[in-house]
Amino acid sequence: MIIQLDQIKDHGTTCHYRLAPHDFPDASAWEESGDFKLQAPINVEVTLSRISGLIEVRGRITTTIDSTCGRCLKDFTFDLDESFDLTFTNEPLTVHDDGVDDEEGVELSAEDLGLIPFVGDSIDLTEAIGEQFFLALPVRPLCSVGCQGLCPYCGIDLNEKKCHCAPPDFAKKFSALKNIKIN
Ligand SMILES: [Zn+2]
Ligand SMILES: [Zn+2]
Repeated sequence: MIIQLDQIKDHGTTCHYRLAPHDFPDASAWEESGDFKLQAPINVEVTLSRISGLIEVRGRITTTIDSTCGRCLKDFTFDLDESFDLTFTNEPLTVHDDGVDDEEGVELSAEDLGLIPFVGDSIDLTEAIGEQFFLALPVRPLCSVGCQGLCPYCGIDLNEKKCHCAPPDFAKKFSALKNIKIN
């Protein structure tokens, strides 16, 4: 995923890629974890444009992934669809942020400003896109937001059946929490 700067048109240049996990530097660890299995290639669409010396990259990653629910342990398949915005710079950029108390100010690097530095006249998107892909994966995959999971006492799948394992007062306490939304 190397793009020459002179390929980037002023109004934006769009590139499409179809990738497999082995196209990413850190993907071997991901595959070994066994939590996810790709059902389809990873589709990446990026649009690069120049904005006052910076290279703006707007992208979208889509694919289909097999995983195991972290609550009910059932296998399920989900579609990953993640958009991202990245800004690259190849200028040796040091911005002086003149602090009030400190006359010398603070030197900010490209990374401090949220920019991704690169050298030369081409951008290699491989690492950045790999990173975006891993960031988009759920930390704890769930078959559905409302998955009831397994009963911790008898192991029954609470999405399918109900059991009477929980002591009654516990159940009462829990029902009070039912309406609390945790973000
Ligand atoms: Zn589940
Ligand atoms: Zn139970």
